[in-house]
Amino acid sequence: MANTYTYELGNSLYLNLTNQCTNKCKFCIRDYKDGVGENNLWLDKEPTADEIINDIDKNPEVYDEIVFCGYGEPLIRLETILEVAKWLKQFDVQIRIDTNGQVNLIHNRNIAPELEGLIDVISISLNAKNANKYQQLCESDFGTEAFKSILDFAESCKNYIPKVILTVVNYSTTSIYECRKIAENLDVDFRVRQLCKEEE
Ligand code: SF4
Repeated sequence: MANTYTYELGNSLYLNLTNQCTNKCKFCIRDYKDGVGENNLWLDKEPTADEIINDIDKNPEVYDEIVFCGYGEPLIRLETILEVAKWLKQFDVQIRIDTNGQVNLIHNRNIAPELEGLIDVISISLNAKNANKYQQLCESDFGTEAFKSILDFAESCKNYIPKVILTVVNYSTTSIYECRKIAENLDVDFRVRQLCKEEE
């Protein structure tokens, strides 16, 4: 079966960059579905920037938003995101990244400045009120270090990206009230997502 590198959802275009992820979230859609809608999002091969760009067969301006996503963590593919975002910048369309927020641990540096002028919205999954709860729910490869790094990344993103959103999944153990407080204290937007990634 051909790899699905791009797919439409609502009036947005999603870019499926990778199946790699640094988490094993208890609520991950990948544990019970192969994709979103009709689209199987398991990849035999990760796309290059050119393959993503060639796969976008409409003028990007017809969409409300282009979303770097993945059936996995898109910012593992940072260089590809930067290349595609530079190309997308010639069009008048909003560009968003959906991320687990662990990118600075993944790349061992603060990458937020590299997104300046390229990304309009970043949606960072918070999902828990503290490091231990996060680790119980999301099982990061980085252990309890992950949670603080996510908050630090969100704080830094405010300097480089016009809109920063912390999100939580509406899961039985999630403390939505306390997560909302964290977002308020960081002075970023907050959103509750339904369990299925199709709602993102
Ligand atoms: S961060 Fe996203 S892709 Fe990764 S395990 Fe969690 S829900 Fe799945």
